[in-house]
Amino acid sequence: MSPLKVEVIPARSDNYIFLVTCPSSGESVVVDPCSADAVSSKLNDQNQLVAIWNTHHHHDHVGGNRALKAQTACKIIGSKADRSRIPGIDIEVEGGVSFKFAGREVQVIDTPGHTNGAISFWLKEDELLFCGDTLFSLGCGRLFEGTAKEMWESLERIMKLPSSTKVYCAHEYTEANGAFAIKVEPNNGALIARLQEVKELRRYGKSSIPTTLKMELATNPFLRTDSMEIRKNLGLENSKNWEVFAAIRSLKDKF
Ligand code: ZN
Ligand code: FE
Repeated sequence: MSPLKVEVIPARSDNYIFLVTCPSSGESVVVDPCSADAVSSKLNDQNQLVAIWNTHHHHDHVGGNRALKAQTACKIIGSKADRSRIPGIDIEVEGGVSFKFAGREVQVIDTPGHTNGAISFWLKEDELLFCGDTLFSLGCGRLFEGTAKEMWESLERIMKLPSSTKVYCAHEYTEANGAFAIKVEPNNGALIARLQEVKELRRYGKSSIPTTLKMELATNPFLRTDSMEIRKNLGLENSKNWEVFAAIRSLKDKF
């Protein structure tokens, strides 16, 4: 089975839409189309859009749903919990459910926190994760609807995936996230190296996405609640992981 091709399509000021295509069958899916135009121009005779996968209901992730559906007759797959907030939803899914795309298994993981119905899509064989606004490179989504504990449990589900997983986050926030990350863990060598790498990429207008789970485990403060340096800096040496996470999240909100 030849690996899926993932095209990273920038949209708005910092959104990413992902066009995933199977080179053998020509089937494509688009993840979080904030606008239809950005996607339509990429579709051609070689790829047939079979589905839209929505990670959550925010407008910058579902804005292109209806227009793309009208143009292509693709099916819209989204969270059951958000059925009333996902425009044009056809197939309702939830954590633990899996479905097929181009002969592969796609597993849905519940990742509430940023929104209550947030989900992530994991393709084991191709080592791909589409996590919307749950995990960012060097950061995580704001808690608009869920609690810190829920978000931490969502991140824990992601942390259990193979570390070679390529993580497709829906925004280019890495550089700004890094400025905060280095404040909470200034002596993390892997983080210092990643900041340098991201700075170079961004200087040439390149995307810092995808990242890998291995990279995030080594550098993302929101996944590093075990770090003694972070715990000492926050005065939380003996707190639970989710409490350390909550403290980092509220510091970042004020940063
Ligand atoms: Zn969002
Ligand atoms: Fe977003």
